[in-house]
Amino acid sequence: MKKSVIIILLLVAFPILAFSDPTTLPLSPSETPNVKTEEHNIPDLTSFFNSYDQASGNIAKSKNDSLLDAISSIYDNFSESTLINPYEIEISKLPDSIFIDCNNYIYPTKSNHITSRFGIRGVRFHHGIDIGIKYGDTIRSPFAGVVRHTNYQRGGYGKYIIIRHHNGLETIMAHFSHTLVSVGDSILAGDVVGLGGSSGRSTGPHLHLEFRLLGNSFNPEKIINFKTTEIKNKNFEGNFLITIADTYSHQGDLEELKRAAYHRVRSGETLSHIARRYGTSVRRLCALNGLKETSIIRIGQRIRYR
Ligand SMILES: [Zn+2]
Repeated sequence: MKKSVIIILLLVAFPILAFSDPTTLPLSPSETPNVKTEEHNIPDLTSFFNSYDQASGNIAKSKNDSLLDAISSIYDNFSESTLINPYEIEISKLPDSIFIDCNNYIYPTKSNHITSRFGIRGVRFHHGIDIGIKYGDTIRSPFAGVVRHTNYQRGGYGKYIIIRHHNGLETIMAHFSHTLVSVGDSILAGDVVGLGGSSGRSTGPHLHLEFRLLGNSFNPEKIINFKTTEIKNKNFEGNFLITIADTYSHQGDLEELKRAAYHRVRSGETLSHIARRYGTSVRRLCALNGLKETSIIRIGQRIRYR
């Protein structure tokens, strides 16, 4: 059976964009960009959607106007949204494969020491990766783009920045000590956006780095090799190929977390009481909550039982 797989190139950009001179960005006195950035070429709107023939390995230029229109209008409508995910597009509604232009990319900081990975963390989902840094370390934008939002979230991201990149991704970076960009600023890959810190829900200086495609986060380790700090699998003319099957392989974990249910511990209750009540086992409760069978639970603690 002959099988061809159509892969659609999705690159969302802003129709007209004048880049600011990077030297006009507000920088702290001791921090100046030492990375040479190149002028980023805005991709031609008509070439956003390509098809990929798996058998021959050829990429053919093609168009998918209806999808392009839909995505463009989503982007236009939320260009100044303050929400983390204003798009609310389920990943299953997107094309099965999407190219992301990674020709202009700069690793955002000088440390590549991962302190916490993407995925389920206790009863929450960690939508990014944590990189251990020193307080005040320079943080750079990984790709060119425009600052969509910057804010302070107590008990969460702390001081954070959301950048919409011309390649269709959004980066969220958090826990800054100082942010050095404002909403609407055009930036190039490698431009300094802030200084690292430990603001918000954080126990020590680190950079929380998050990549999202139309609001849907994926593991930064899928696109960046943190050992070399280079982009992975840049096989297609410098494009990184996002596939729903691989890049979004955590969808099952997210679904499972959505179905989760919790019990609030009352006086005198133990894990075995809770297990009996919900028809599960202590072992299962421990696995769901990152506990040991000998762990002490306290009154008021939330225990996930499903
Ligand atoms: Zn984090």
